[in-house]
Amino acid sequence: MSAVLGTQTPAGSQDEVASRLDFLRKLQAVTNKIHSTANVDEIMLDLSQDICDLFDADRLTIYALAEDKASIVSKIKTGLNSVNQLKLPISDQSVAGYVALVRRAVNIRDVYDEQELKAHSPKLHFLREVDKRTGYRTKQMLVGPIVDEARGELLGVVQLINHRDGDTFPAVLEEGIRELCKTLAIAYTQRLRPAPLLRSKYHQLVSDAVLSAGELEEATRAARNSGRLVEDHLVEEFQVKLAWIGVALSRFFGLPYEPFRQDRVRPSDLLKNLKREFMEQSQWLPIEDGPEGMVILATDPEQVSNARVINTIFPKARLAYRVTTHAEFRQTLDQFFGAESSLETVVDLLSGLDDDDDDGTDISEADLSAAAENELVKLVNKIIIDAYRAGASDIHIEPRPGKEKTVIRFRKDGSLENYIEVPASYRNALAARIKIMCELDISERRKPQDGKIRFKKFAPLDIELRVATIPSAGGVEDIVMRILAAGEPIPLEKLGVLPHNLERLKNTVTKPYGLFFVCGPTGSGKTTTLHSVLHYLNTPDTKIWTAEDPVEITQRGLRQVQVNRKSGLDFATAMRAFLRADPDVIMVGEMRDKETVAMGIEASLTGHLVFSTLHTNSAPESIVRLLDMGMDPFNFADALLGVLAQRLAKRLCSHCRQAYEPTAEELELLLAEYCEELRGTESFRSDADAARTDVLAGWKRRHGDAHGKFTLYRAVGCDQCNQGYKGRVGLHELMIGTDRLKRLIQEHSRVAVLLASALEDGMLTLKMDGIEKVLSGITDVKQVRAVCIK
Ligand SMILES: [Zn+2]
Repeated sequence: MSAVLGTQTPAGSQDEVASRLDFLRKLQAVTNKIHSTANVDEIMLDLSQDICDLFDADRLTIYALAEDKASIVSKIKTGLNSVNQLKLPISDQSVAGYVALVRRAVNIRDVYDEQELKAHSPKLHFLREVDKRTGYRTKQMLVGPIVDEARGELLGVVQLINHRDGDTFPAVLEEGIRELCKTLAIAYTQRLRPAPLLRSKYHQLVSDAVLSAGELEEATRAARNSGRLVEDHLVEEFQVKLAWIGVALSRFFGLPYEPFRQDRVRPSDLLKNLKREFMEQSQWLPIEDGPEGMVILATDPEQVSNARVINTIFPKARLAYRVTTHAEFRQTLDQFFGAESSLETVVDLLSGLDDDDDDGTDISEADLSAAAENELVKLVNKIIIDAYRAGASDIHIEPRPGKEKTVIRFRKDGSLENYIEVPASYRNALAARIKIMCELDISERRKPQDGKIRFKKFAPLDIELRVATIPSAGGVEDIVMRILAAGEPIPLEKLGVLPHNLERLKNTVTKPYGLFFVCGPTGSGKTTTLHSVLHYLNTPDTKIWTAEDPVEITQRGLRQVQVNRKSGLDFATAMRAFLRADPDVIMVGEMRDKETVAMGIEASLTGHLVFSTLHTNSAPESIVRLLDMGMDPFNFADALLGVLAQRLAKRLCSHCRQAYEPTAEELELLLAEYCEELRGTESFRSDADAARTDVLAGWKRRHGDAHGKFTLYRAVGCDQCNQGYKGRVGLHELMIGTDRLKRLIQEHSRVAVLLASALEDGMLTLKMDGIEKVLSGITDVKQVRAVCIK
């Protein structure tokens, strides 16, 4: 940059205006730079030459207030390398000291001119000693104070020496230095607040000459703008190695740096109750329990230790911290909990399986090359992890004869979706691998087998899979795997039960004794609902026994028993044992024989609360079925608290569902469908029109807007969902054992009679519950019809 203001031009001339504007523009650029930085001193160091050029000065010195507050110390200098740090008292014994004292800028033509100095203050003095030592002749000086206006505190002094044209600094530069001082005052006061350590976490990289202060500043700014980590920018744009960053962090925190280690053993005991999401969010991980205590890996050990979370989770542990980079922390997380999005996609893995000239000839496990076998193992693991992450319930492996590829599909939200196809020649090796994982006989290929995979033995993901192999046409074997994810109970309030039913459900299940059933086909969410109910009842003063097959949801406080028919522990045996084990509440996975149901009735009549499931379609039908099984109607009527029938309907994707106002015809159809359910009730039989009007009025009250208009939604489809649907919602038909119902049971009444009575007692059928959920925008009528087929 050249001197734009070097020559004095007549005031008001075109040139002066232009050069003044040019100066102010450049000063603004410097100001912006200072304001955008976290480290003022470093940016000043980088900018000092620019500032000298801008002010057309030879040298720049910035002083800061010394700790004693009685002097100032030079902290940034250009062109004075031969002089050590200079400390000046705040007094008129030096020009900078004088400016600090009076807090006013001075502009001196020649500091050797005693008269000129005296005009400022009688005792003002210039220290010629420095010049003597260095042989430099100081002449002009433009000096300004850096003052925190708000607190009235002096922060430092900016000093420019020797105007390059040999004459006094012009007035515009006086204005300039005041602006510069103001900018620095703001920057310093703002930067003084945060812990000074924070701003130099990566400073060691500069000290180690891995990159310049300017580059670090650039990376920091880029990170701020992109919302990414400084580390990412350092690695990607400045090719800084993680290990170097590690060393800098180690120096900063004063703790050993722990790099990612491929061979680290997963500390299962320490990770037992920790979730990936939580660890990712709180940025610490226990990595081992060693001689120095529990070793904690963290990206910011100071913050972690201040938060004191670890002490609450591991109250007795002595903690030893290790610092690591964000990237390596993430790698370790992946290593311990399974990769969130492993770099190797299933397509990568498949390409590792050679399918050139795939003639459909089966490759046996023994023929596989070591490399291909390794790829196959990874492929199976990847399939399972992908299915789990996608929220799939089942994995279907469907080999086809000849050269045709094996199709793999996932069941998600109740529907199958294609996942991948695997070369035909690997179908046997694939089946063999899965059989090995669940310890089945790999040579048996003509009979169905079933087994279980404890997946955490093979990958860092704690799930189990129930596996069924079935020989199918063409001499191949189908495999279906059900994912049994160790889940947690959903609170009753979050189950999607309508407020009307939630109230009735809570009242029913809090009775001290009785029998309660949840019914519906396989996969209708019965177990989930029962666990939500048990969760609601699970208090320290209640003993709850459960017999389940399998135990899919675990709850602290419950005593859960896994049924094992092979070793003689079936539901009836478990139930008998529970009755001798002082229970308050008993849950039996299912009751499908007379013996178990009879035992359940007996248990509830002797003061216990008993829950179970039935494979029946509707609530009234369940009662008739149980009576038909040979239950005593009087005992059963006494015991029965209620029956909840349930279905899962696809939920509209909240991201893309499209609102619309239904036409009169559409609304009419919906109303007809709803009222059809109520046909047998007293009110509909006496005056159907009046009853319909009542129903519509209820709808408007619950779902209509101020004008009585309804808003429905239709499925669209977006990248967050599957054809407009995401997840499922329960539809509920809750029949309560009212006195009227109990009487009808004793009379062994027909389904239609039970239904009409239940409806009059406030029951909604599955279809009605579904239509309520259509009117509130959760699902659409197509999905409700799909699951309410009678
Ligand atoms: Zn969507």
